[in-house]
Amino acid sequence: MARVFNFSAGPAMMPLPVLEEIAKEVVDYRGCGMSVMEMSHRSKVYQQIIDEAEADLRDLMGIPDNYKVLFVQGGATLEFAMIPMNLMKNGVADYIVTGAWSKKAASEAKKYGKVNVIASSEDKNYSYIPDVSDLPIDDDADYVYICENETIHGTTYKELPNTKGKVLVADQSSMFLSKPVDVTKYGLIYGGVQKNVGPAGLAIVIIREDLIRDDLPAFVPTYCRFDTHANNGSMYNTPNCWAIYVCGKVFKYLKSLGGLEAMNEINKKKAAILYDYLDSSKLFKGTVEKEYRSLMNVPFVTGDADKDAAVVAATKAAGFDNLKGHRSVGGLRASIYNAMPIEGVQALVDFLKDYEAKNA
Ligand SMILES: *Cc1c(COP(=O)(O)O)cnc(C)c1O
Repeated sequence: MARVFNFSAGPAMMPLPVLEEIAKEVVDYRGCGMSVMEMSHRSKVYQQIIDEAEADLRDLMGIPDNYKVLFVQGGATLEFAMIPMNLMKNGVADYIVTGAWSKKAASEAKKYGKVNVIASSEDKNYSYIPDVSDLPIDDDADYVYICENETIHGTTYKELPNTKGKVLVADQSSMFLSKPVDVTKYGLIYGGVQKNVGPAGLAIVIIREDLIRDDLPAFVPTYCRFDTHANNGSMYNTPNCWAIYVCGKVFKYLKSLGGLEAMNEINKKKAAILYDYLDSSKLFKGTVEKEYRSLMNVPFVTGDADKDAAVVAATKAAGFDNLKGHRSVGGLRASIYNAMPIEGVQALVDFLKDYEAKNA
């Protein structure tokens, strides 16, 4: 078995102990004589899998009782539409656009109501987070929307926006479970799980109960109503049983490592190894203003597209995978989610140092 250090932005690395545990259960789940893949979602055994997954997630994140946890298919992208369809009561929402993902979310929301872009960092190719302490929040805004960690541009918020009493909605796809968050500060947190948690095809939505409406316009598809999922324990139809099962394993694994405080410490250490090198390097530089650097996604460039391509090819040949940057930023991007071991980041930095010395 040869596993590479996979720096993909998503789907991304999974913890090896979790993969090994799944491998043991894949043919016969705990004496059931069948795989979780083959199991009815209405079975007692599966009910226990989803209940435990939810309980462990609540425990990890400290999710209060007045929030529902929903397991929804369609990834984070479907949430770009579900959020405005479900939360726009006045038909108005304020969006802070800090990169590709919040931009996409804002343009999708425009299909359902009025979208105000109340702050943006587009002027500098999304390399920073704008001042969000005193924004022109619309009196009628049903919510204020952020992407808390921009996967492509590599930025993250230092402080949450002052929403002036409005509901805060956050896309946490690429930082989900990377550090503790105070759930009570948000009306809704969601994330596609394939970045930092599990296999693709599942979004987890954590929503304050009073935001779940039953008076939605008739055009909203049944599947896209939060109350459909909330009232049916995320099993209105067949859920993504497999992804929920794997996520449950990851939740237990994170708990065994000490929970989100412990993950945050490890993630800070990992990111520091890479950023410290980039700051000392003459060949590479990070593309994000220091204050707003993501701990999860680290874009960096040489400043020359041909040189960037040569470095990407060299990393690949050396066993580091998926370091090519997104085309909108160029260069390289190292995604160093929870499952990337510190040894992987250290090995990459050692390689880049050596490469720099040889190509000076
Ligand atoms: C990847 C990503 C998405 C889109 O996720 P899908 O599950 O592919 O729809 C949305 N938001 C952020 C921040 C992402 O990183």
